[in-house]
Amino acid sequence: MPAHVVESVQDVRAALAPLRSQGRIGLVPTMGALHPGHASLIERARTETATVVVSIFVNPLQFDRADDLARYPRPIEADVALCDRLGVDVVFAPTAAVMYPEPPDCTVRVQRMADYLCGAFRPGHFEGVATVVLKLLNIVQPDVAYFGEKDAQQLAIIRRTVADLNVPVSITPVPTVREADGLALSSRNQHLSPEERALAPALFKALIAVREQVEAGATDVAAIRRTATAVIPGDPRLRLEYLELVDPAGFQPLQEVGGPALAAGALWVGTTRLIDNVLCTPGPLAFV
Ligand code: AMP
Repeated sequence: MPAHVVESVQDVRAALAPLRSQGRIGLVPTMGALHPGHASLIERARTETATVVVSIFVNPLQFDRADDLARYPRPIEADVALCDRLGVDVVFAPTAAVMYPEPPDCTVRVQRMADYLCGAFRPGHFEGVATVVLKLLNIVQPDVAYFGEKDAQQLAIIRRTVADLNVPVSITPVPTVREADGLALSSRNQHLSPEERALAPALFKALIAVREQVEAGATDVAAIRRTATAVIPGDPRLRLEYLELVDPAGFQPLQEVGGPALAAGALWVGTTRLIDNVLCTPGPLAFV
């Protein structure tokens, strides 16, 4: 059965009303330009919930650069066709006017967790993310919502939003899907030229260099960062925005590794900004 595509809040609620008694509802929030990373969230939802809803909305509130918003890909027909193939029940694809009939006066303010990493470089980004996700959760009222570990800071902030504001939904994380050379799948990868695409795995390689050092017992974050950033080729098209080790719960930067730590980075490849992260667990040697 093809997915039921709806645009308005009223229509998505009407489509879901008769389905609520049939089992759990799973929501996969996306900005579209769907790729196998999104598909793994949808497939997970398909196996765990009776009704799967995919939202497709390029949320202007979370973009800090107008050019990024303007060139964000919006292949809605291909996205709906993929949702059909994956057995999605409802695609909620609202316009900006549906989501923001007027500029919102009330938004979700994110504090400490948005101070570092992407939050430090993208002013207002996580406020926009938390606000749109809370709106989508209120509109769809799912039992479970699925988010990728690829956007680890976003995932942690959403977990915290749901906990702090008592939203009755369970949040399920899904591992990052990568290309064979390690590059994390992203809707923005399609902006890369072939030469840029060849350079792009440098971010993952640097993160792996962090993980290897942590596993080998290194604890001094400044030294770990120096070794890891040296992995990134000195190419004028590459600019490292940040490479940090943070505590995986609060997203505060670490100076010393004393337990599981998240290595996260943002790398500009030409005019495209890529992010990625890997969890680093100190090996047994670290505690001898
Ligand atoms: P986006 O459309 O980029 O907002 O992403 C929608 C959801 O898909 C978010 O929860 C992302 O973390 C997740 N996602 C994006 N890329 C990947 C990936 N490569 N692997 C797993 N999840 C992903």
